[in-house]
Amino acid sequence: MVQSSLPDDYRSGFVALIGRPNVGKSTLLNQLMGEKITITSPVSQTTRNRLRAILTTEIAQMVLVDTPGIHKPHHLLGERLVQSARSAIGEVDLVLLILEGCKQPGRGDAFIVNLLRQQSLPVLVALNKWDQVMPDQHERAAANYEKLLTKNNWPVHRCSAVSGEGCSSLTTAMVDKLPFGPQLYPPDMVSDQPGHVLLGELIREQVLLHTREEVPHSVAVTINCVEEFSAAKGKTQRCTAVLATVLVERKSQKGILIGKRGKMLKTIGQEARLQMQNLIDGSVYLELFVKVIPNWRSKPQCLAELGYGGSS
Ligand code: GDP
Ligand code: MG
Repeated sequence: MVQSSLPDDYRSGFVALIGRPNVGKSTLLNQLMGEKITITSPVSQTTRNRLRAILTTEIAQMVLVDTPGIHKPHHLLGERLVQSARSAIGEVDLVLLILEGCKQPGRGDAFIVNLLRQQSLPVLVALNKWDQVMPDQHERAAANYEKLLTKNNWPVHRCSAVSGEGCSSLTTAMVDKLPFGPQLYPPDMVSDQPGHVLLGELIREQVLLHTREEVPHSVAVTINCVEEFSAAKGKTQRCTAVLATVLVERKSQKGILIGKRGKMLKTIGQEARLQMQNLIDGSVYLELFVKVIPNWRSKPQCLAELGYGGSS
């Protein structure tokens, strides 16, 4: 994309992806971007950082802001996550409200719809997970949501973040809602997160996939070191070494994470390594350490050090 030859009607702006936890915000962001930028998981409350993904085309540059889902907070980390999602609404040109088309709308959805109604921002609705709606249920599912969205006049797009169906017309509709303007970021930049943040997130994603109950939400990952070296003398092939610490809150969680004879940690490490290799496009050596910090989720200093700051 050549910056100097942008058309006069080039559009640019910020779009917040808003919705209850687990409706598919992060999956949709990856689908719209055409590559993995953020992690997803069947466990709700996966997204902790507000992440910006930058989609640059010949006609527009759209900055997608992935937010933690809006829900009722139970601890300090939860509160920070909700604050972060709410403040994202104040800073964008467009809101993409994501709803779960395959389920009945609930009170959480009504809460968000109300919140958005109080703003004057343009809103587009993505009725996501449409692949999960049986064809003979299409009309009924759409009618359920019409009731929720009545009086709003927000355009509704049915889509599937997993199969990609409906996503290109959604992108077109999003671009049409952006104001005219220049590129806000270099055209080859895809995310505002430093690379090591995504590496840590890929590890956390595997923890979420492989552990149950209280473990997933008590985990944070820090990347201690990323270093590139040549795989063998005289060879040009790159190899990247990644050393990371997985934080948990209790000794028992450390036990679960390591597993019998280290089996669990090995699985997590192997799968995260494969994901990293896709991202880096070279071989990766990954070493994981597990550390217990009691109640890190309720300690302001720990939250700040882990990047879950209180100010944004
Ligand atoms: P978030 O909390 O809103 O960011 O939700 P995620 O993107 O992490 O997705 C939550 C779960 O829903 C994951 O297991 C996804 O694979 C799944 N999911 C997301 N979008 C779709 C979709 O369009 N269809 C189906 N079948 N599953 C989806
Ligand atoms: Mg998410």
